[in-house]
Amino acid sequence: TAKQRGKANWVRYATGMEKPLVAHAQIGGDLRRALDAGEFRLVYQPLVELRTRRVIGVEALVRWMHPERGMVSPAEFIPAAERTGLIVPLGRFVLRETCRQSAAWLAEFGPDVFQKAGPNVSVRQLHDPEFVAEVRAALADSGFPAERLILELTESAVLRGPQVSRALHELNALGVRLALDDFGTGESSLSLLRAFPAAIVKLDKSFVDGIELDEPGTAAADARQAVARAVVQLSGALGLDTVAEGIENEEQAQRLMRLGYTTGQGYHLGRPMEAEQITRLLAAQRDLIAAAA
Ligand code: C2E
Ligand code: MG
Ligand code: MG
Ligand code: MG
Repeated sequence: TAKQRGKANWVRYATGMEKPLVAHAQIGGDLRRALDAGEFRLVYQPLVELRTRRVIGVEALVRWMHPERGMVSPAEFIPAAERTGLIVPLGRFVLRETCRQSAAWLAEFGPDVFQKAGPNVSVRQLHDPEFVAEVRAALADSGFPAERLILELTESAVLRGPQVSRALHELNALGVRLALDDFGTGESSLSLLRAFPAAIVKLDKSFVDGIELDEPGTAAADARQAVARAVVQLSGALGLDTVAEGIENEEQAQRLMRLGYTTGQGYHLGRPMEAEQITRLLAAQRDLIAAAA
């Protein structure tokens, strides 16, 4: 049947082995249908203060709850969504849902317990002339304060010329904060850090992996530490906050703290989870704060 054929093409395309035109059209239609059917949802990964281990905010990460394939990770569909343009309406959903949920957390727990939240934003969205207006509307409709919204962008996305640059400065003027995601993996340059109106730099997981290994003469671990230290020092000098991504064990957390990182994210500190689980974490934290007061 057409449905089976479509599915076969989808899988072939998703695994990246072959990209026939029909599959391209197929996944575009599939994503559109999924969006209309409400199959996308958000999970949230805690952003954690390393010293106290308090959850101070969340990163919103999209998931596709596919009726047959189960939960599909963004690595499998974001590239296709970007190619087909569906990232624009999908990103709109992600933005609005992040703002709605975050405003609810802020109202329930207050700014001492819940500080900030952010979605990832694709370069394709930044090219959409409506994007800044959509951010403004999502904030207005939800009541979530602009300065608590953190848009995560990759380095390659921000190097895309005057239109993107204008959008970034307009977002900045709105009070929204921008984070440079996966820092160190792209065409990172010092001038980018200086020119880009970012507030936050997220050290990529690849510099955290193995950073705790301390065998003398292991050049790889030394090099990661050197990069991690340079990023936190330079960011500090430029007045930017830092977040270390992909922390998977306590040794990495300790090492990063010693290097000067105050905020981290990673499976060791909290996996991406459903909104209800974040709500429980925040409630526990509120009770701890109340008990200490
Ligand atoms: P990212 O923004 O750098 O998000 C971090 C990714 O690393 C997430 O994968 C998260 O689950 C994973 N992660 C966090 N801590 C650890 C750890 O300790 N170990 C390991 N191995 N992984 C960890 P996820 O959710 O699969 O997302 C992958 C990428 O897809 C994201 O990377 C982001 O670039 C993109 N993405 C996710 N949601 C969206 C979205 O709504 N819009 C757009 N445009 N891109 C998105
Ligand atoms: Mg991110
Ligand atoms: Mg990241
Ligand atoms: Mg990443």
